[in-house]
Amino acid sequence: MPVNPRSDALPAAQQSRAALDLAERAALKAQTRLRAALDALPEGIVFLDEEGRYILWNKRYAEIYHRSADLFAPGAKLADTLRVGVQRGDYPEAVGREEAWLAERLNMMANPGPPHEQRLADGRWILIEERRTDDGGNIGIRVDITELKQREESFRLLFDANPVPMFLYEARSLSIVAANKAAVDHYGYSAFQLKDMSVLTLYDGEEHEALRRAMGDRPAQLPDGMWRHRKRDGAQVEVTLFQRELEWGGKPAVLLAAVDVTERRRAEARVAHMARHDALTSLPNRTLHRERVEALLAASKSGEDSFALVLIDLDHFKTVNDTLGHSVGDRLLQEVAVRLQLCVGTADMVARLGGDEFAVIHAGADRDAVITLVERMAAEVNRPYVLDGHQVLVGASFGIAMAPSDGDDPDRLLKSADLALYKAKGEGRGMFRFFEETMDNELQARLKLETELRAAIAQGELSPHYQPLVNLESGRVCGFEALVRWNHPERGIVPPGEFIPLAEEIGLIGAIGKQVLNQACRDAASWPEDIKIAVNLSPVQFKTTNLTETVVQALANSGLSPHRLDLEITEALLMDKDGGTLATLNGLRSLGVGISMDDFGTGYSSLSYLRSFPFTKIKIDQSFVRDLATSADSQAIVRAILSLGSSLGMTVTAEGVERPEDLDYLRQEGCAEGQGYYFSAARTAEEVLEMVGGPRVQATEATPVEASPERRTA
Ligand code: C2E
Ligand code: MG
Ligand code: MG
Repeated sequence: MPVNPRSDALPAAQQSRAALDLAERAALKAQTRLRAALDALPEGIVFLDEEGRYILWNKRYAEIYHRSADLFAPGAKLADTLRVGVQRGDYPEAVGREEAWLAERLNMMANPGPPHEQRLADGRWILIEERRTDDGGNIGIRVDITELKQREESFRLLFDANPVPMFLYEARSLSIVAANKAAVDHYGYSAFQLKDMSVLTLYDGEEHEALRRAMGDRPAQLPDGMWRHRKRDGAQVEVTLFQRELEWGGKPAVLLAAVDVTERRRAEARVAHMARHDALTSLPNRTLHRERVEALLAASKSGEDSFALVLIDLDHFKTVNDTLGHSVGDRLLQEVAVRLQLCVGTADMVARLGGDEFAVIHAGADRDAVITLVERMAAEVNRPYVLDGHQVLVGASFGIAMAPSDGDDPDRLLKSADLALYKAKGEGRGMFRFFEETMDNELQARLKLETELRAAIAQGELSPHYQPLVNLESGRVCGFEALVRWNHPERGIVPPGEFIPLAEEIGLIGAIGKQVLNQACRDAASWPEDIKIAVNLSPVQFKTTNLTETVVQALANSGLSPHRLDLEITEALLMDKDGGTLATLNGLRSLGVGISMDDFGTGYSSLSYLRSFPFTKIKIDQSFVRDLATSADSQAIVRAILSLGSSLGMTVTAEGVERPEDLDYLRQEGCAEGQGYYFSAARTAEEVLEMVGGPRVQATEATPVEASPERRTA
């Protein structure tokens, strides 16, 4: 008879027995212990007799099937509970084929095979294992594997639907167990081809061999990181591999994810290229240029020159940009880039450092070869360009430094080439210069001068001195020319020739010119009415300042009458035929201010300039006056200018009158005015005040004034 296993439900008949013998007690105890042990198991356990009737089951078993512990009536058969379950729809797999399913299930108990999974209607999964017992009964083991199934399911989902190509391979044999859709799509092999294929097949030739050699005949898990794979169609891809070890079907396996980084790599390469190349010309940029210089310098250990650095600056590029527009300017730069590249050798590098500045690194230290190269580049750059229907002409200046002798670090070398370029440009456009040691000193001196000059302007160290202009007929002082002086705290009086050109270059001439003009007008306002003041103007003032405004202000502030002011300009101003300049001159003229042509005769086409504007005065350059006594040519030129002046109605002043003979000649030829050391060098404002207040110089007894410290020895 079946033993009801639950001890708490022992039959009353047994309980009522007065005494149990010890053996029975012991058996009962053992049975109770066995129960407790079974109930403690995580698996569900059920024992059946040879007819399939329930003998014993544990708590977990009842739980799995949601049955109360004493549900099974004595003698109940598993087949019966199954049938009830099937009818109730507990087993989704049985729906529609109830009898067949039941038959299979019972057959499975009679002839147990490997464990199988069973799905329940509520979604749980149970692993079922059956074993025969020696007495012809059955032991059934049930494990709730719902959680495991869910995990497996999400793994499948992650694997199959993942956009990253993934493979699962056996850790020992390296053969592929599974591949996801992305892997099939990406690599071009079918799922069928991939199955059992060695994962090594995915690797590109060389790396495949390397891995094979490294592993020998003991295949191991492949390394992570960057690798090259080859697709079925032969295309090479760069991949980053990520791997995880796991168990698959009870064997160690590896999950491999292969992220294709080919595109990203290409994009990175593009970015890297962009960081080292100029977008406009595609030439190497400053960064790459510098890297090359660094590398070459590092390589030239011997100290012997091994390469030349040529800096190239286009002449008049700004004009092209300003007049024809930036797109034409851009195209010009592109064309220059191409032409330069065609000039250099394969070992040379042309770079664009920015703006209109290019650099060529020329391998080899033969100076003649460098000169040949530079001349070739100059000729190429000079050839006309046709851009946007415009014929464009530009030139280039070149500065050359030899490495490593002109600089053994990149900064020094570049600075040397820069100094040479600066010198070349200073000598006019289209020149080239090699670096020389003295250039550096010159630059230092220049930089010092620049700082000092800025401070000087701010601190009022600049002021005009005045040199008299004498009416040669009356012998009287008829005016003064303001000549700026820099009263330098250490160097004393500095003449304008030493700082005006620099001031023009670095944009300080506007401020200086304004200071001088204001001061000169103020000083002149305190002189007698018949004494005029002449002030020099730089061409740069016309371009960078509102000159008319400045002059109007100076006159207004000082109260000086406009007809007492003469402005001196040189031919250089009229050289570029700029309509604006003439308009300004006419505007000034209409204020009543006089305009003098200074240093006449030293320019190129003086006569045409005289025609272009109604000057009030011509000043014959001192170089002609200086030679008057000895040079017949100078005499002829002076005479010609004098007659030109009288026919054009312009006063003529002779500059640089130093000797009585000169004065005699000029007077004889009817020159109206003279200026020079014979009369006086430039004087301070105080001295001038004394001079104009004192007795006038008589024409007949014109005598040289005292030698001034400024007086030059001719
Ligand atoms: P410049 O306008 O032709 O001035 C005449 C120069 O000749 C002055 O030189 C003067 O000192 C010098 N000189 C006068 N008489 C004689 C002489 O008998 N013999 C010789 N050998 N030289 C004589 P300085 O003062 O050195 O000025 C040089 C130039 O600097 C001036 O030439 C003028 O172009 C420029 N300059 C002077 N002051 C200014 C200024 O305030 N503004 C501008 N933009 N330029 C100025
Ligand atoms: Mg002058
Ligand atoms: Mg002059």
